[in-house]
Amino acid sequence: MGGQQLWGYLTGERPCPPTPTAPTPPTYAPDATDEVKKPLLDAFEAALETYESDRDSQAAWLHEEACAKAILFASMEVDISMSLRGLSTSHLMWAHLRRSYEIRNEALYLAVVEEAQSLRQHDSTVEEFHRQMSAVWHRLDILGAEFCASGTCQCCDRHRSQRETLRLHEFLSRLRPEFEVVRSQLLTRRPHPPLNEAMSELRAEESRLWAGGMSGESQPSILAAHAPLVPSVPRRSPPPTLDDEYYTCLRRPVWLLWQGSSP
Ligand SMILES: [Zn+2]
Repeated sequence: MGGQQLWGYLTGERPCPPTPTAPTPPTYAPDATDEVKKPLLDAFEAALETYESDRDSQAAWLHEEACAKAILFASMEVDISMSLRGLSTSHLMWAHLRRSYEIRNEALYLAVVEEAQSLRQHDSTVEEFHRQMSAVWHRLDILGAEFCASGTCQCCDRHRSQRETLRLHEFLSRLRPEFEVVRSQLLTRRPHPPLNEAMSELRAEESRLWAGGMSGESQPSILAAHAPLVPSVPRRSPPPTLDDEYYTCLRRPVWLLWQGSSP
């Protein structure tokens, strides 16, 4: 919808232009002079031009509205589209769908939040774990509250930056205990480094730990993560790490922050 610039039809930001009324031709006495007739005829011609252009824009609106409806129907299961019978515009249909599915969306959102909370690095490399977390965050972004475009709203910018900080904490707190040193270094830094910057330090730390493991120090989990023949089996009950502590106190704010409401 966005690509076709049809989003405004669904949201109601682009309502149907009113139907224009055709201007009536001027009337004048049969013996009227050109001096009397000309301004009347000019005014009529101008009104006619406006009328035609209004009619064209309404026709263009109707065409685009038909496209919006077609896309909407094409992206729905038949039984869902049946529930939209009798609704005349794509805006009314969208409003109906939102009312019907918002609650289901919230349940889905909470399920993804739970999934995010249950993720741990286990035997993955930092890179693999980052990919896994990013995928879940991406789903949360799609399902969660929308933010205004960057720089247009202070409130949204603040929420966005809090979310970044929270995700940095979230990510670091789920890493294996051997990352403790670099984790506390990253967390005490002010301002907080962006996650991609933290990632390059974590990758370096991982290589360092791995090299340490290869040279004889005991780093079993790191070795496991890099040995292609060792299957990566998630441990059933990982040892308690910092994150359990984070999550006990962050569970509420995580939800509230994403919802954009204040505690
Ligand atoms: Zn905003």
